[in-house]
Amino acid sequence: MFPCLRLSSLCDLHTLQPIISQRSFICQQLVQRYCSSKADQYDLVVIGGGSGGLACSKEAAILGKKVAVLDFVDPSSQGTTWGLGGTCVNVGCIPKKLMHQAAILGHHLKEATSYGWTYPSNEPATHDWSVLVENVTNYIKSLNFGHRTALMDKNVQYINAKGSLLDGNRIMTINKKNEKKQIYADNIVIATGMRPKTIQEVPGMTENSITSDDIFWLNKPPGKTLVIGGSYVALECAGFLSGLGYDTTLMLRSIPLRGFDQQMADLVLRHLEHSGVHIVRGTPKSNTKQKDGRLEVTWQSGSDVYDTVLLAIGREANTKDLGILDIGVDVDQNTGHIVGGYGGESERTSIPNIYAIGDILHGRPELTPVAIQAGKLLARRLYGTSLEAMDYELIPTTVFTPLEYSCAGLSEEEAESRFPDEIEVYHSYYKPLEYSLPHSSSEHCYIKVVCLRQFPHKVIGIHITGPNSGEVLQGFAVAMRTDSLTLQVLQSSVGIHPTTAEELVKLHITKRSGLDPTVSEC
Ligand code: FAD
Ligand code: NDP
Repeated sequence: MFPCLRLSSLCDLHTLQPIISQRSFICQQLVQRYCSSKADQYDLVVIGGGSGGLACSKEAAILGKKVAVLDFVDPSSQGTTWGLGGTCVNVGCIPKKLMHQAAILGHHLKEATSYGWTYPSNEPATHDWSVLVENVTNYIKSLNFGHRTALMDKNVQYINAKGSLLDGNRIMTINKKNEKKQIYADNIVIATGMRPKTIQEVPGMTENSITSDDIFWLNKPPGKTLVIGGSYVALECAGFLSGLGYDTTLMLRSIPLRGFDQQMADLVLRHLEHSGVHIVRGTPKSNTKQKDGRLEVTWQSGSDVYDTVLLAIGREANTKDLGILDIGVDVDQNTGHIVGGYGGESERTSIPNIYAIGDILHGRPELTPVAIQAGKLLARRLYGTSLEAMDYELIPTTVFTPLEYSCAGLSEEEAESRFPDEIEVYHSYYKPLEYSLPHSSSEHCYIKVVCLRQFPHKVIGIHITGPNSGEVLQGFAVAMRTDSLTLQVLQSSVGIHPTTAEELVKLHITKRSGLDPTVSEC
């Protein structure tokens, strides 16, 4: 009646594992025959239905394979939960960009009077948090629905259950009702992503704080908010909260945007301050809920009371409950990420038929397009005729702070350390035309292009702070991938006038020259 149990007692599956992984025909047949009904056997099972997992599973199904994708969301520490699509759709890129846009619109409303707009009451515009959250979350729910439909259309089996590995081919699934079921796969892709960290050692911090898993779904307005952290999530959240009119403080324990060009990071931080975010240096010591429900936070040199504390201190890999250590998947000791690179393939783990993509893969950029591209290419290599590997170099990115910062390639510091005394930096401050009528400050709008000093001055890094800098950079990042973007190519290109992107083809001042790179009018 339970052939699986009989098989397990006859044959130690841990011993069987390497043989199965080497695709021993007999063992695969045994496991398939005894452990699953035909319906539960797949060519590919993907664990994690986020950016990478969805892309990989759909591509494999397009290539004619029988595919299942498991997705399960553990509620956040504050009980927030959401649907299919992973971090980007539910608690990442999408709601973040919409709230960034909400803040930008508020700023434009203030500038609009310089362009002749008047408001009937002559009162400043007010913002309703609950309308924003309702519209954002409704949009997210439509995306959740769209992802489910897309899986159905492509014949991918969606299983709303948590998966863990029993061996190299068998996956235990547990659904919301705690019902367990084993499924079988020839190949397994782990795409389980990451979740926000909390600070357990600081009294009250975990229970009294929210994270990025909660902020976009918060029913009541956040009010006066302390954001703790100094990287992407912290700076972006502080930016849109302040832009929406909330008294916002950013608590930094060290430098902002570690790993990014520090001159650019400094401009981003100064612009945040300029737009109203208070900056506090330190680390929190306690977070205590007062009788009125407000939160008193103390740090080395002070204390204050907030309505909301948002922890944005990094993310941890979702590998803990996956059972992968037991079956011998190599995991980084410090971060819990899955180590890839086995067999010369970036996404292949220490078990040959188990792969990892997206945020869970050790040492790769934690960005949605990276997860999607890696997932698609992996499916094509596994089931198509393609040999194309994911190229993790030259990945462009944008930090969506009120003044966006976008970059591709090396920071000035990295370039200097890789090519000492061999780089030339072209730079310029610039004034976006749209800033002119409202007399908006352009003191933080800056472009830096890092080149090799040797002719033809290959471009190895581009950095821009400015409005819509993500839109501006995408095309330049494509050009960099051709390996033939040089300063000469930039300088001989004809700009599109009047745009901010044209500033990139007008650069002529080197840092070494000491000439003034500050803006001069058109
Ligand atoms: P995820 O999208 O996280 O998907 C993993 C899925 O697996 C989740 O649904 C999870 O619940 C599920 N899961 C976990 N364990 C199991 C299990 N055992 N069984 C079943 N299911 C499981 N990137 C950008 O490119 N641009 C941005 O602007 C941007 N903004 C961001 C803003 C924020 C606030 C955050 C937090 C991230 C942002 N990112 C952004 C990063 C981006 O969201 C991630 O890089 C991307 O979502 C990673 O995709 P993934 O497939 O690796 O994992
Ligand atoms: P990061 O790991 O990039 O940064 C964590 C930040 O928190 C650092 O500034 C760190 O400081 C600080 N920190 C860590 N521990 C503590 C502590 N105990 N007390 C106070 N501060 C602390 O995390 P993020 O969550 O910001 O971003 C995660 C990833 O998500 C990013 O790498 C990015 O790939 C992706 N993302 C992408 C976005 C985009 O594309 N626009 C937007 C948001 C996220 P220190 O430097 O001193 O260690």
